[in-house]
Amino acid sequence: MKLPDHPVIRNMERTGYPDGKEPKQPICPICSRKADTFYVGERGDILGCEECVCARDAWEI
Ligand SMILES: [Zn+2]
Repeated sequence: MKLPDHPVIRNMERTGYPDGKEPKQPICPICSRKADTFYVGERGDILGCEECVCARDAWEI
């Protein structure tokens, strides 16, 4: 006899998340693209994400 899996386990198997819902993807307020990383200034203000901010050699600007 096989017991049915707990709903949380079924959700984890189906979606990878305990409640069966994917967490909302953060959206960059600068370029409106989906972002995993935000770059912020000294006061916590968002400057951009990994999609719209890049590092440049300061000596060449
Ligand atoms: Zn961005």
